[in-house]
Amino acid sequence: MKHLKTVADVWHYRDSISSKLVGFVPTMGALHEGHMSLIKQCQKECEVTIVSIFVNPAQFGKSEDLDTYPRPLEKDLKLLEDAGVNAVFLPTTDVIYPSGIENTTQIMVPGLSSLYCGVTRPHFFQGVTTVVSRLMHIIFPHFAFFGEKDFQQLVILKKMCEDLFIPVQIKAVPIVREHSGLALSSRNTYLSEENKELAARIYKALKAGKELFDDGVSSSIQLLEQVRMYLEQAPEIEIDYIALVDPNTLAPHPEAKTEDRILIAAYIQNTRLIDNIEL
Ligand code: AMP
Repeated sequence: MKHLKTVADVWHYRDSISSKLVGFVPTMGALHEGHMSLIKQCQKECEVTIVSIFVNPAQFGKSEDLDTYPRPLEKDLKLLEDAGVNAVFLPTTDVIYPSGIENTTQIMVPGLSSLYCGVTRPHFFQGVTTVVSRLMHIIFPHFAFFGEKDFQQLVILKKMCEDLFIPVQIKAVPIVREHSGLALSSRNTYLSEENKELAARIYKALKAGKELFDDGVSSSIQLLEQVRMYLEQAPEIEIDYIALVDPNTLAPHPEAKTEDRILIAAYIQNTRLIDNIEL
């Protein structure tokens, strides 16, 4: 596996694989089976798989967990090597933002970025779209793979590529869960065993909503009430938002349709968790 550290390293490597179909999997490291399923999908569809590990300071708020975000680099590199990844891009912050974040051109998808997670994390999506556009311009992949776990992010990144005519096809990969139903996340390492059990209730609440929909209820008010009731049985879970949305535009749907998504964001102590389910 090639270790690429600078933009010049990537461009040099990219030249050597110019005839190949290239897939890209951006990550912030602390890799788990969710990341590995993106990598497997990329390897199935592409001839070359490039993974990046970069904890992007631009997407963290001032009071968020940038400093404590897990960074088990050696373990991550071994996982990538064992998985047969062709190259890993490990830029520093100076490589991605040579003139500093404040002086760097920002990319922002309006509207979508201020909904749902954008309400409590107003700079988050701008940080994500800015870094992903920069990574795409460095790597020039044909395909880029993102998890449905971060559903709003996925929709925003598709819109960004469309709006900026970035010729990268975005591929969505289903959510990987623990046996309990808890969606895998690098931030789950912040949870005690007890809180992990509590967190599994988030998926159970989503499933309760889906079951009601499968039983023929389509009123969004009723479906969301069911989800909320299920979550509120655990007072330790602090709900940020619950929404029932169109899967392409994220517009709230008063009447649920097949393929709509129920989205949840909630806190357990200081850990923010997100999850969603397809109806
Ligand atoms: P992160 O390292 O958290 O920025 O995530 C990198 C990529 O992995 C994003 O596209 C996420 O949506 C995806 N991802 C994270 N957790 C999961 C999961 N449990 N299942 C599927 N994809 C995931």
